[in-house]
Amino acid sequence: MSRFLCSRMQALAPYTPGEQPSDRKYIKLNTNESPFPPTEKALRAVAEAAENLQLYPALDGGKLRGAIAESLGVSYDEVIVTNGSDEVLNLCFRAFCSPESPAAFADITYGFYPVFAGYNCVPYEIVPLKEDFTLDSRDYIGINKTVFIANPNAPTGIFLPVSEIEEIVKSNPDNVVVVDEAYIDFGGESCVPLVKKYKNLVVTQTFSKSRSMAGARLGFGIACPELINDLYRLIYSTNPYNLSRLNMAAGLAAVEDSDYTRRNCAEIAKTREDFSRKLKSFGFEVLPSLANFVFAKKEGASGRMLYDRLRAEGILVRRFDSPRISDWLRITIGSRKDMNTLAEKLRLITENLL
Ligand code: PMP
Repeated sequence: MSRFLCSRMQALAPYTPGEQPSDRKYIKLNTNESPFPPTEKALRAVAEAAENLQLYPALDGGKLRGAIAESLGVSYDEVIVTNGSDEVLNLCFRAFCSPESPAAFADITYGFYPVFAGYNCVPYEIVPLKEDFTLDSRDYIGINKTVFIANPNAPTGIFLPVSEIEEIVKSNPDNVVVVDEAYIDFGGESCVPLVKKYKNLVVTQTFSKSRSMAGARLGFGIACPELINDLYRLIYSTNPYNLSRLNMAAGLAAVEDSDYTRRNCAEIAKTREDFSRKLKSFGFEVLPSLANFVFAKKEGASGRMLYDRLRAEGILVRRFDSPRISDWLRITIGSRKDMNTLAEKLRLITENLL
């Protein structure tokens, strides 16, 4: 840290992303990327868009914004397109949280929420999940704070029914509720239709998982036009050209090729169920997941040990230091072949055969 860093920023505790190693080739199941490449249509669209890179890109999400709106049955002014969904989540902390309206989120959830709160200097309340890692919606009824809920939750994969989220939104009319649906396309039901009914709801989604475009950095938010305007006000105060010609072209092709996304999601969901069944048959506890990852542990085997042994075998998964989940692994659902390799390694390691 240099002596020039202002004291506010010295207190930051930055997010720790999953490893992106370059030392050797791994089976990479640690950052919830898709095992499928992006749609071929995106490759062609990107090459075409590259011909105009001397020009600034379109503002306000360009054509992509309208395409997202149409695909979700909302209007253009109910959509904001951002540089990954991390950008729209950060904007929500900045726009809708304050000392008078602190943030509230679970103890076990997306690790970036406390970091965004710190970055934006807003206080937050941690609301512990129940013993079984489910969220008790009663904890949020009338909580009077800006609520952030990942649904399905990460790293657990557990899905909270839309009816329970609606009760939370309804009971906090003077606060914004943000539902982070980064993993919604793998089997959950989206809250997007509720946006027409509630003026205090923001739903965020991403192109990084179901649409195989983590490298493009594209996300979006859906909310009533007033909230979307608030968020664009912040974009225009920081980085109006928040999207490149290349990622917008890729994103548009992905929205237009929704069949490809649907097929891939169905395949991932099927692999997830087969993989979970297999781990359970080896004595693992596996939480019910509607995401493109599972959260699993084996009694008597520490998370650190399993992680280290798998790494030595050329397989990367995600582990966490937080004491409540330190023995759990978050495992991305990759190709069938990779999941079979991983399952077999886990069996051998936990049966002391490797
Ligand atoms: N929300 C959750 C719950 C996530 O796990 C992630 C991915 N790490 C994101 C949002 C952000 O993803 P991206 O910025 O790639 O859209």
